[in-house]
Amino acid sequence: MKSVKGEKERLIDDYGREIRSLRFSITNRCNLNCIYCHREGEGRRELGEEISAELVIEIARVASGYFNIRKIKFSGGEPLLRDDLVDIVQGMRDFEDDISATTNGVFLKKYAAELADAGMDRVNVSLDSLKEERYDFITSSSNNLPKVIEGIYSAIDAGLTPVKLNMVLLKGINDDEIVGMMDFVRECNKRGEVAILQLIELIPCFNHKPLQGPGAEPHTMLNYEADFYGVEAELKSKASAIKTRRLQHRRKYFVDGVEVEVVHPIDNTEFCANCSRLRITSDGKIKPCLLRNDHLVPIESVDERHIINKLKLAMRYREPFYGR
Ligand code: SAM
Repeated sequence: MKSVKGEKERLIDDYGREIRSLRFSITNRCNLNCIYCHREGEGRRELGEEISAELVIEIARVASGYFNIRKIKFSGGEPLLRDDLVDIVQGMRDFEDDISATTNGVFLKKYAAELADAGMDRVNVSLDSLKEERYDFITSSSNNLPKVIEGIYSAIDAGLTPVKLNMVLLKGINDDEIVGMMDFVRECNKRGEVAILQLIELIPCFNHKPLQGPGAEPHTMLNYEADFYGVEAELKSKASAIKTRRLQHRRKYFVDGVEVEVVHPIDNTEFCANCSRLRITSDGKIKPCLLRNDHLVPIESVDERHIINKLKLAMRYREPFYGR
């Protein structure tokens, strides 16, 4: 790792990748059970002790104060299951530029206004289908889709925008719904320029559970990898403008007034070469790569020097998963 002395030290790994954001998994618990979910690379492990609110805030404080990292995302499991999430957000609002969460949206109606008041800036909401039977199948749950839709509108009304709608493309399950999802984004945007569609490539990972439910065959998730290159080519052909984000070189396509961002990590060396986030697991370990669990760095105290040293140690383990 190379630390550049300036006004503040910066966290830059051996591949020249500077950390600009922290992604905290604050719980491994979830109220849904999506068939493909990697739970931020933790899988469905035994539920142990969750990282404390105090430690989350202290890590964020050190990252911001010492390394100038001022962008935080909460994930999980389902982050809205943490009943201290509002307090956590409040505890860091003064030293962060951008606080967001990725949520399944089921509890958003209840919490959106409170989270916005506490200092949250925006949310991503997972929405893989607008068809109830498919949604239930994908999430292994029932009666939740209407709650999620309501939650999305509550988030928009609370100003947690832009709301990004995260859609993991699953071949033969929801890959015919991109146009429908874009229509839904257009519907949301009647309330302002408030929604973005984010298409996510399925990571066929170690933790998937075999498909169950109506019509399911005993496949592995590998059978559900959609043709992402084809999807991107189609977006490209229809786009009036294309932009590239600094984070993981993600492309954004502007199609018929809808912004569509594409998250395409598999075998994509550009994706890893431009990775600028560090993850913290739900039990308080720094996770240098989503796709690896063999170099986790536990943070065992809220002491500032300890946290600084652990962040620096984790940087030594960072290497691109694709393109090494
Ligand atoms: N419960 C929250 C939610 O539903 O957004 C946060 C946790 S979830 C792990 C965070 C994001 O990871 C979601 O947008 C989800 O779609 C995505 N995700 C989970 N497993 C994935 C996989 N195998 N491949 C690609 N994306 C995945």
